[in-house]
Amino acid sequence: WSSPLSGLAHRKSLNDSLEGEVKAFLLDEGQLHTYDDLTKVNPVTPTTVLKCLQARYRAKVFYTHAGCTLVALNPFQPVPDLYSLDVMKEYHCAPQPQESKPHIFIVAEEAYRNVQGQVEPVNQSLVVSGESGAGKTWTSRCLMKYYATVAASSSLMKSQDTVERIEKRVLDSNPIMEAFGNACTLRNSNSSRFGKYIQLQLNRSQLLVGASVQTYLLEKTRVAGQPVNERNFHIFYQAKDCFDETVEAMVHLGINAEKQGHIFRILAGLLQLGNVIFCSAMDESQPCDLEEKSKDFMHRCASLLCVPVEELQTCLRVRTLRAGKQSALFKPCSLADCSVRRDCLAKVIYAQLFEWLVTFINDSICADNSTWCNFIGLLDVYGFECFQFNNLEQLCINYANEKLQQHFVAHYLKAQQEEYVSEGLEWSFVKYQDNQGCLDLIEGIPTGVFSLLNEECLLNRASDAKQFRVRLEKELSDNGSMSWDKFSKQPHFTVAHYAGKVSYQIEGMMEKNKDPVPPELIHLLQKSENPLLHQLFADRDPVGQGTRGLRQVVTVVSKFKNSLENLMKILHSTTPHYTRCIKPNTDCRPLTFKKEEVIMQLEACGIVETIHISAAGFPIRSCDCTDFVLVLQALMDSLAEAELDDAEDLQEAMPTELDPILRARGSVQLSSIQEPVMVRGWPMGLALASAP
Ligand code: ATP
Ligand code: MG
Repeated sequence: WSSPLSGLAHRKSLNDSLEGEVKAFLLDEGQLHTYDDLTKVNPVTPTTVLKCLQARYRAKVFYTHAGCTLVALNPFQPVPDLYSLDVMKEYHCAPQPQESKPHIFIVAEEAYRNVQGQVEPVNQSLVVSGESGAGKTWTSRCLMKYYATVAASSSLMKSQDTVERIEKRVLDSNPIMEAFGNACTLRNSNSSRFGKYIQLQLNRSQLLVGASVQTYLLEKTRVAGQPVNERNFHIFYQAKDCFDETVEAMVHLGINAEKQGHIFRILAGLLQLGNVIFCSAMDESQPCDLEEKSKDFMHRCASLLCVPVEELQTCLRVRTLRAGKQSALFKPCSLADCSVRRDCLAKVIYAQLFEWLVTFINDSICADNSTWCNFIGLLDVYGFECFQFNNLEQLCINYANEKLQQHFVAHYLKAQQEEYVSEGLEWSFVKYQDNQGCLDLIEGIPTGVFSLLNEECLLNRASDAKQFRVRLEKELSDNGSMSWDKFSKQPHFTVAHYAGKVSYQIEGMMEKNKDPVPPELIHLLQKSENPLLHQLFADRDPVGQGTRGLRQVVTVVSKFKNSLENLMKILHSTTPHYTRCIKPNTDCRPLTFKKEEVIMQLEACGIVETIHISAAGFPIRSCDCTDFVLVLQALMDSLAEAELDDAEDLQEAMPTELDPILRARGSVQLSSIQEPVMVRGWPMGLALASAP
């Protein structure tokens, strides 16, 4: 390029070839798998994004950047060497990990490098989302292994065997929590039935010195009954499979043989309890009978839980009504109530045992406050749920997902658009779904669904679903996110979530929210001679259901909302990194990509909007702009040699020249820079300021 004119001629042909490249993207399916960042896809539409992901999946490439987010497609089969120690080393040691092939380790490494901060440490959060079976827990485990390796206090990079005690203990929390908190469901054979946020604590030298775990909303109803073709929590089946692994992890965490004995006796007691079946008594004024075989089960249960069998039988079948301080009345429970009490006993014991385990794990792995200074948090929560019948559990889970979506939107979409405006950049706003209306509907005070539900529960009157439905309609019909199916036989309400509409049954919702435990059951458990079982309930107030001294009704939703608010505060105080796990098919079949199923997930998490913003705006990460740099270089050389008139022409042409290249690379809009920068005496602002 000896003169500006020859440069112009060349520019034309370059433009032509770029246009060709864009078209080629749509036509040459053979190349689709090479796009490792969806921001490079042009145009960005749900179809092109989908095609690109499908092509990559076929080529067995499972990670793809989507601007500020990483998309992880579940291979549903082991991928040899994708997570090996060598691969960890490769990403950890890379001068610019972002330039390596997309991988979850890029996210991990970026967070690890960010945590040190330029001025002071900045805590990081890795948020992993996706529907059931998409790979959230798998991804979280990979992340934990990565940090347990690269942030280990000794020369861990040499061999996998050298994992130090604390790293090992942190990793060992996984098999225990999964044994007690995961189960086989129709959608995932290892489905997490609780949410988890784990903070990996790092010291000043960025070494992993401990961790703490917070869990959310264990699905305790599963212990008493499961949907058809689903199973109870894994631990109940492990006397075959994986038992050794769980026990080994328990030992590493300090749960000694004696404590294990207590735990397994309690679990065995629950299994016996599950077999107990009641039948009506001949005389209706008498408590229900037990089916013949159930008598044995009841005895075994009492012996394993170390409680007197007569008392166990009584408190499952007879209600105690207090009449003044001293006296009490006894009323036989109905047949249905007896089963409710049996299930309630199992649920309360299991939930309390799970909580005890989490506390124990925390005591074992949490570092002393003085030894750590910053953390990387990993969030693995249940994805959006929409079943044929949805109730309070789904409302809570979907509410959590709304909160996370809002955090994502606020963090990336809103913040980025506002930044463009504040910098005076021209910017056509990308429409994104603001879900504040839906959140107001659920959490609004005093007239959100949660508040109204709590109010209803505190009134302590017999729950009436129809009445509650009328109240909801009266208070919330103005909210655009709420609707009703007038023809539905069951009282319900429908919420338009960001990820889709979900109808919630009202029947049973108040009861689930109160989650009452008959005081007789708590009294009984406090008498247990199993030291662990006794300890689980020692501080519990049988009447108020809270801790002794804090007598108040704590509803399920108020507890959940509080813990979620705390989580959101933590997330807001950290730099987040998002990974969206995608489930390529509902049958969990290896290497099978169902377009309809994937596109629904892409839409639900707003991935296309994310890409639009990342693609049209400043590059968040560096990208391959070789041709941009070449053209810029040539233009600058030409400018340096040009006569003034030519130079002005040239400069005017520059934005048009460089813009399509960057656009095709999914990068900067040149015309958006206002102030020129003087380079070699020429106002070069447009081109230079935009170069990544
Ligand atoms: P849930 O919400 O039900 O807990 P989840 O999103 O946590 O679901 P996982 O349990 O992580 O889903 O993944 C489901 C299954 O998919 C895993 O048990 C594993 O078999 C497979 N899987 C997920 N990610 C990968 C991967 N990267 N490589 C190989 N297999 C994977
Ligand atoms: Mg999971």
